Amino acid sequence: MPARAPDMPARQSARRGERLELKGLRRDFSGFAALKGLDLTIEPGEFVALLGPSGCGKTTALNCIAGLTPLTAGSISLGPLRIDQLPPERRGFGMVFQSYALFPHMTARKNVGFGLAMQNVARREAAQRVDEALTLVRLAAQADKLPGQMSGGQQQRVAIARAVVIRPPVVLMDEPLSNLDAKLRLEMRGEIRRIHEAIGSTTIYVTHDQDEALSMADRIVVMRDGLIRQTGSPTDLYERPAHVDVAEFMGFRTQLPGRVVTSDGTRATIEACSSTLQVLQRGPLAEGQAVVLMMRPEDLVAGPVGIPVTVRIAEYRGRAFFGAAETADGTELFFRSDKPTGAGDRITVAARPEQILLYPAAAA
Ligand code: ATP
Repeated sequence: MPARAPDMPARQSARRGERLELKGLRRDFSGFAALKGLDLTIEPGEFVALLGPSGCGKTTALNCIAGLTPLTAGSISLGPLRIDQLPPERRGFGMVFQSYALFPHMTARKNVGFGLAMQNVARREAAQRVDEALTLVRLAAQADKLPGQMSGGQQQRVAIARAVVIRPPVVLMDEPLSNLDAKLRLEMRGEIRRIHEAIGSTTIYVTHDQDEALSMADRIVVMRDGLIRQTGSPTDLYERPAHVDVAEFMGFRTQLPGRVVTSDGTRATIEACSSTLQVLQRGPLAEGQAVVLMMRPEDLVAGPVGIPVTVRIAEYRGRAFFGAAETADGTELFFRSDKPTGAGDRITVAARPEQILLYPAAAA
């Protein structure tokens, strides 16, 4: 039999990737609906982040896709094949967990090769694929170490190599960086994206960290209470969150109730906290309509004019001070000041019209 080209099958099988389709995914736990009907199509080779607060159903969704948790209702298809009745090993997806889940008594090489041995891949081919996978995660020199002799970051690389060595059509990652320190997390984000591109598989990545999702994903799926709230590119999500709760999750911490004074279709004048604010308009508004305004702390800046507030707390974070303040009616705002400020100071804060998000109060 002719030998296979040494480095091609991983890429080829990945390119032959199929679309993953989730339809009406539902999962109940003793009457509690953890997933309430998830519809999502993921294109081959896409890097999708499932993002949302704790308990919104991210891990349940990932486990349902992996086959670790059976569905209560709905279907999962990979290309033309319905897979939701298949056991995890027949789906053949690679999984990476927060806890690494390595065998402590096996070397990195043995851990990575374990799945191939289970699949009865011939010894020579398995050895070659393990070497390729360890090289891909830049661990070739550490191949004979036990997990206990490796750093957290190295152990997670072993776990990633183990997930990709089986040449899965889909790699599932559940908060893989949560156990690492901040510096290593940053470094590993780039590494995971590089590996994703090198193998060409579809990646589904669960996280509650918006920075991770923004920096790594092609598309972000924001979940809440077992449902998808919004899907879009990182820019869409960062700049145009569709709902107040998504905006809050994406860092728009200040929320002010207001009322439309005038609107000309492109700009609106809003009365909020006894002040008047100019806001860019993205949809129709009626005079007198109740709205919610949202702003990021870095955009709501202390200056000569704006909403009068009393500083409650402020801390120096390198270039600027960031703090929380209160208006006379007790509304809380989160602001930035380029000059020193502290508790009890009376200041005014303002944001530029294009930095303020506006939502109809009813839809909030
Ligand atoms: P986190 O970021 O904290 O891991 P998550 O978004 O991944 O949260 P899930 O772990 O999917 O959330 O849980 C969703 C909901 O389902 C939670 O309310 C959780 O308590 C519940 N849940 C998950 N697994 C089970 C289970 N085996 N039995 C009962 N309830 C469960």
